[in-house]
Amino acid sequence: MKLAVIGTGYVGLVSGVCFSELGNDVICVDKVEAKIEMLNQGEVPIYEPGLKQLIDKNRTQGRLRFTTDLTEAVQTSDIILIAVGTPSLASGQADLSYIEQAAKEIGNSLNGFKIIVTKSTVPVGTNEKIQNIISTHSLFPFEVASVPEFLREGTAVQDTLFPDRIIIGTSDECTKLRLIELHAPLTSNIFVTDIRSAEMIKYASNAFLATKISFINEIANICEKVGADVTEVATGMGHDKRIGTSFLKAGIGYGGSCFPKDTQALIQIAGQMDYDFKLLKSVVEVNRDQRFNMIRKLESVLGELAGKTIALWGLAFKPETDDVRDAPAFEIITSLLERGVNVKTYDPIATDNFIKSYNIANIKYCQDAREAAKDADALCILTEWGEFQKIAPSLIQSWLKQPYLIDGRNIYSEEELAETQLNYYSVGRPNMNKGVKEMSPILLM
Ligand code: NAD
Repeated sequence: MKLAVIGTGYVGLVSGVCFSELGNDVICVDKVEAKIEMLNQGEVPIYEPGLKQLIDKNRTQGRLRFTTDLTEAVQTSDIILIAVGTPSLASGQADLSYIEQAAKEIGNSLNGFKIIVTKSTVPVGTNEKIQNIISTHSLFPFEVASVPEFLREGTAVQDTLFPDRIIIGTSDECTKLRLIELHAPLTSNIFVTDIRSAEMIKYASNAFLATKISFINEIANICEKVGADVTEVATGMGHDKRIGTSFLKAGIGYGGSCFPKDTQALIQIAGQMDYDFKLLKSVVEVNRDQRFNMIRKLESVLGELAGKTIALWGLAFKPETDDVRDAPAFEIITSLLERGVNVKTYDPIATDNFIKSYNIANIKYCQDAREAAKDADALCILTEWGEFQKIAPSLIQSWLKQPYLIDGRNIYSEEELAETQLNYYSVGRPNMNKGVKEMSPILLM
């Protein structure tokens, strides 16, 4: 099939590349010239494991092209996928300006019948808006369908090529058959529904996963008070098939470009219908507060933080991505700077993006994990990069000025800590400290 993908971000680029891998002719469009230039020179503007190899292969085989010319892309394709961003407005509502602009441009470019597929995460009713916008700019026939995206950054290529399920929202029989044909090579688990339900499935799924994370984080906080181990609790819970083990990893909470904005957007969607989504509001509040547990733990063990040097490992919101949108690191760093802390950070991939996105003065960005930890009063782990898990805690101890390790992602085991004199504080697990200083349970609120 001939496909155009509008927006070459994490979703559009990965989807376009994977559809070309399946043998389709794909043309990816972005309005940012620098991105398209990079892609046309064989460089990849985002970090996503396995993506570059697929881009190189499919470009060489002539199935994958990149352009800034939306009109040409639309006119030479049968199916147009919209994958532009839908960030949060200050109100928490989804900003639909990129969607509306893309719909207008598509409308102005139509030259015959097309299927327009919305992959971006959009509030219920948005596909109807897209339909209206396109029809005010074109007399050509078209169909709009919702096919929400569920890939996860860091494993986006795998998730796209081997999805758990595909959701297709359409009421048109021909569109349904074409979209089933397009997705059939990926999975047989294709669920077809109406457009509004498809739009809602995406928000409900993200809200549910965010709820699991906040739930286990609250259980972790209680475990710290009662002396239980949240990793054992989560494993025990997960043995129940109704619960499952995924998304029950305690830590410093979720971040990234989806869960924070999609939970806020769903609260707004409900609110506009006079429905107070109390549960989801609490999920968001718990998540935000969880980040600051790290600061409370630091204050509990180090006392006054002003003038201390704190090392932070990890700026990306999760491992295997360079995405720093709504990363817990930002709020943690801001809070430490407000307290007069000297902050040193290291991330294997995301440092450049972090500098570009947040432009925070007065922190030291280090070249490696050792440089960040060297002579610090404490080390905090914010992202569970594999690189950090391979560093022996005894080495960390030898680098630090004071033996405090605050692990926000529970990456080390008791055995790994046994040989060291590190005072180790993780999330929801019994503290492993060597008696240098006991953390007051009262402070672990
Ligand atoms: P992104 O910001 O990385 O990429 C969006 C791209 O669209 C940008 O490169 C931008 O320049 C381009 N763009 C915007 N308007 C355009 C236009 N008129 N013409 C051409 N290009 C245009 O966003 P993303 O992370 O890929 O997310 C896209 C959508 O998918 C969002 O709605 C998001 O919620 C959803 N989603 C994201 C993920 C994820 O993990 N990132 C997962 C599932 C769903």
